[in-house]
Amino acid sequence: MELSLLSDANQRLEKALRYVLIDDDVATRLRSPRSSLTVSIPVRMDDGSLRIFEGYRVRYDDSRGPTKGGVRFHPGVTLDEVQTLAFWMTFKCAALNLPFGGAKGGIHLNPKDLSKFELERLSRGYVDAIADFIGPDIDIPAPDVYTNPMIMGWMMDQYSIIQRRIVPSVVTGKPISMGGSLGRETATAMGAFFVMQRILQRVDQLPEDTTVAIQGFGNAGAIVADLLHSAGYRIVAVSDSQGGIYAPDGLDIPSIKQTKEASRRLQAVYCQGTVCSVVNDHEVITNEQLLELEVDVLVPAALENQITVQNAERIKAPFVFEIANGPITSDADVILEQNGIQVFPDILVNAGGVTVSYFEWVQNRSGLYWTLDEVNRRLERAIVTETDNIWAIAQELHVSMRIAAYVHALNRLGDAISAKGTRS
Ligand code: GLU
Repeated sequence: MELSLLSDANQRLEKALRYVLIDDDVATRLRSPRSSLTVSIPVRMDDGSLRIFEGYRVRYDDSRGPTKGGVRFHPGVTLDEVQTLAFWMTFKCAALNLPFGGAKGGIHLNPKDLSKFELERLSRGYVDAIADFIGPDIDIPAPDVYTNPMIMGWMMDQYSIIQRRIVPSVVTGKPISMGGSLGRETATAMGAFFVMQRILQRVDQLPEDTTVAIQGFGNAGAIVADLLHSAGYRIVAVSDSQGGIYAPDGLDIPSIKQTKEASRRLQAVYCQGTVCSVVNDHEVITNEQLLELEVDVLVPAALENQITVQNAERIKAPFVFEIANGPITSDADVILEQNGIQVFPDILVNAGGVTVSYFEWVQNRSGLYWTLDEVNRRLERAIVTETDNIWAIAQELHVSMRIAAYVHALNRLGDAISAKGTRS
């Protein structure tokens, strides 16, 4: 029987609980979300018709502070998925020691079917519907799959209209001109890059000897591909929702990124003056084939549930870094571990995004804005510190990096929940 996403996520909690000394009440508290809101958002479409979209906002746990997490616009969004993503945010914020609990939001739709004006009305309508549920000291939305700074700007503006005052710190990931932080757009990829560098150095895996396959070419996947490529790693495969491309000698990431931005297609194009031609030096592969390639490092940077019991046996990369949230199911984890594959978990690897969201919130509240260099320096320090902490727990307890990350987060969550006494 297929488990709900949340029950699957809870399996990790149960495993980690074996290694921590915390009150049973804390564990009970963490097994279910504190509050889940389902809303219907009426949107006037460009053709004059009225459409209703279903949206969600879940606040999973707020023991460590206001809840934090992105909003996803995707046809696969369900309440179960949003609750699970909010669960992961809770552990992610605790693992990075951010003063936040976990939340998530989503709207069930294909954003590619909407015009820009329809998207704006939908984003503003979503905020109208959840306005009593969010706030700078309550719950702070941010971007996630298929949402971006433009959408965050509309959301912040709508909340400010409702409140009749400017409230930049209610949303993070905003455009810079509306109080966004420098470095927020690249933060998820940058954080992942810092984790990868730290770990690969530790295991003596040199960039020039390392082949990498990346599933997903969105905000996180494309930027991490660029960072790794510039650092000398050989990116042999990348993919987007349409499929992937593979070249054993390595792909020219900057040119692929450029074409993807211009034409939405994954292709390498070379231009000489004004004459451009497509370079056909790669094989076309599927997303499934990409995951099973014989590479040193595999980076799932798309959606959840990509590596399951169905394909786990066929994964060959010895190192897997999860930039997506939840790309590996809990039973697939067991198979990968048996096969000696080391998985570096989402709640550490993709935590750069929420870490710089925290920096943005701090800057909005203090009114003092940091340079890009300052943001990236603080991000690197936070990521490297927690990577080392989690590595040390994994060594000490002889557990996977995933369980170590959960143990690390649980200790902090346990302290906060117990400190509140009977409220938990
Ligand atoms: N959506 C991102 C995540 O899954 C960022 C959340 C945030 O910045 O609050 O971590």
